[in-house]
Amino acid sequence: MAVKKGDLIDEHKRHPGSCGLIIKVMGGGAGFEKVLCCDHELTEDDIVPDVGSPLGRSRGRMPVSAILDEKKLYPDSCGLRVIVIDGGAGFKEIRCCGHSLTLSSARELKFTPMRGPEVDASETGQHGTA
Ligand SMILES: [Zn+2]
Ligand SMILES: [Zn+2]
Repeated sequence: MAVKKGDLIDEHKRHPGSCGLIIKVMGGGAGFEKVLCCDHELTEDDIVPDVGSPLGRSRGRMPVSAILDEKKLYPDSCGLRVIVIDGGAGFKEIRCCGHSLTLSSARELKFTPMRGPEVDASETGQHGTA
C-alpha cells in the first residue's frame, strides 16, 4: 500500500458524516499505511481524483495548511509529506513506515517577520527659526 505525489485522500469518500479530512501527498509515500481520523482508517481506497465539496467539513483545531513531514522526524523514512487541505477536526495520526505522524510534527506555513536592526527614527528637534 503506497501513495504518491499528487494523491488526494478524502475522508468523505467513504465516511460522509465525518469531519471530512482531505490531505494531499506532496512527496514520498512508499511506506504509507493509513490515516487515522474520526476513528476511521483512510487508505489508498480513499484516494479521490479531485477535491470534493467543502460542505460538511470541519477543521476543528487543525491549523490552516498544516504540513506533516515524515523526513523531518525520521530521516531514513520514505519521506512522506502531506498537506492538510480541509477538514481534520477528528485527525489523529498518519501511519507510515511504522512511524506515527501527528499534528505535533506539523509545521505551519507561517510568515515570520525578519527582525532587522532597529532604526532609530528619533525626531531630531528642529528649531523653527523665525
Ligand atoms: Zn475525520
Ligand atoms: Zn514513510
